Amino acid sequence: MTPDLPQIHLHDTATGSVRPLELREPGVVSIYCCGPTVYAPPHLGHGRFVLVYDVLRRYLEWAGYEVRFVSNITDIDDKIIERAQNEDRAWQQITQRCEKVWFDTMDRIDVMRPTETPHATEYVDQMVELISTLIGRDAAYTTDDGVYLAVEGIEGYGLLARQSLDQLVEGGGDREVFGADAKRHPADFALWKFSKPGEPAWPSPWGEGRPGWHTECVVMSLDLLGEGFDLHTGGLDLAFPHHENERAQAVALGAEFAKHWMHNGFVEMDGEKMSKSIGNVKNLVDLADRHDPRAYRLLVLQSHYRSPIEVTDTSIANAEAALGRLDTFARRTSDLDGAADTGVLDAFRTAMANDLDTPAGMQFVFNAVRDANSALDAGDTEAAATAAATARELCGALGLRLEDAAAAVPAEIEALVAERTEARAAKDWARADAIRDELSAAGWTVEDSADGPVARPL
Ligand SMILES: [Zn+2]
Repeated sequence: MTPDLPQIHLHDTATGSVRPLELREPGVVSIYCCGPTVYAPPHLGHGRFVLVYDVLRRYLEWAGYEVRFVSNITDIDDKIIERAQNEDRAWQQITQRCEKVWFDTMDRIDVMRPTETPHATEYVDQMVELISTLIGRDAAYTTDDGVYLAVEGIEGYGLLARQSLDQLVEGGGDREVFGADAKRHPADFALWKFSKPGEPAWPSPWGEGRPGWHTECVVMSLDLLGEGFDLHTGGLDLAFPHHENERAQAVALGAEFAKHWMHNGFVEMDGEKMSKSIGNVKNLVDLADRHDPRAYRLLVLQSHYRSPIEVTDTSIANAEAALGRLDTFARRTSDLDGAADTGVLDAFRTAMANDLDTPAGMQFVFNAVRDANSALDAGDTEAAATAAATARELCGALGLRLEDAAAAVPAEIEALVAERTEARAAKDWARADAIRDELSAAGWTVEDSADGPVARPL
C-alpha cells in the first residue's frame, strides 16, 4: 500500500465482520456495483445504494485512491418483457427511455457516472460462452425451459446468505423463493431461459432464449474488472440469491471472484419497506422534483450505510432545513480565503476509513460550520476562514454541494424592495410594513447592507 493512503476497513458480508479491504493493485480500487433493471423509474431503494457507493467512491478518490467503478444496466429481464407486452411496445423503447430517466435523475442528485456502464445486451455472446463452459464441466444442465446451474456441487454455496444449503432450503425452500421447474435441486437457478413466441430471443446451442440475471453480472464484472477484483457492492436484498448465484458461477468456472462484499441496508418509508409512497413522493424522480435534490444524500450521510434508513416527510424536511443552514453558512463565508485544518481532515479521513462512518464524517462538517459561524460572530476572520475551508473540503469529499451564490432576485421582488425604500423615505410606515409582509409571504426578507437594502430568501 502506498504509505500516505489510509487503510480502508469495510464490513464484508462473506465473513460477517469488518476487515481490511485488500487491494489487488496498490492504490487502485476496483468496484462492481449492480446497476438498475431499466423497466421503471428509479425508486428510493435505488437512490440509497447509488448515494452510498457514490460517497464511497468520492471519499476514496479524495483520499488519493484511483477508483474503477463499473456499474451495469440490465436491459434484458422478465419485467421489461412483461411491461413491453402490457403496453404493446418494443422492449427497446422501454429500456432506452428508462435508462435516460435513470441517468438524468443521477445527474440531479449529483451521482457520478460509472467509469464503465456495460449493458447486458452487449454481452450475450460471452454469456453463451460461459454457460457452454459450465455445461462442459457438468456444473449446469438443460431442462425443457432453460439451462440451470447445479448448486449442490458448489463449494461454500450460502456464503453470502450466511447459511448452509440445507438451512436455505429448510428456511425458504418453497416454490415462492426458488421457483418451480424440473430442477434437480430447489436452489438451482436459470443461466438461460428459453423464449416463448414473441419474446426477445438470442441464439444459443440449446435453443433461442435469453440469459438469466445472475449470469449477466458475473460475465460483465469479470470481463471489465478481471479475476479477483476488489469489491462487489449492492443493496442487502441482492446478497441472496443474486450475488450468491453470481459467485456460484465463478466458483464453478474456477475463476477468482470478488474479494470483498459490501451491502447497504434497506429503506423504510413511514415504517414500510419501500412499498408505500410518502406524501406525494413515490420514487426518486418525485423526490428530486418536489424537494431539494440534495436532501436524500444528506439523509444517507447521516445514517450508517448498514443501518436501515427511514424516509418520511419529517426526515426529508429536517434534511432540507439542515441544507438551508449549510447554504447560509456557505454564502456567509464565500468571501473568506483560508486553508483547511489538516488535523481535522486527517481525523475525518480516519473516521471514514472505518467502515465508511459517514455519521462521524458529517459531525466534522457540522463542527467546522459551527466554528466558522461563531468565529465570524466574534470577529475572528482568520479562524472563520480556516473552519470554512475545512467544512467546504469535507463537503466536497462527500459529494455534498453547497449553494453559496446569492439566489437570483426576481424582478417583482426587486420592485417591491424599491417601493418599500421609497415608502420609508416618505415615512409611510404602514405602507413599508405592508410591503415587508408581502415580501415575507413570497419567501423573501430585506436586509440592510452597505449598498442599501437587499432582498434575501427566507
Ligand atoms: Zn448484479
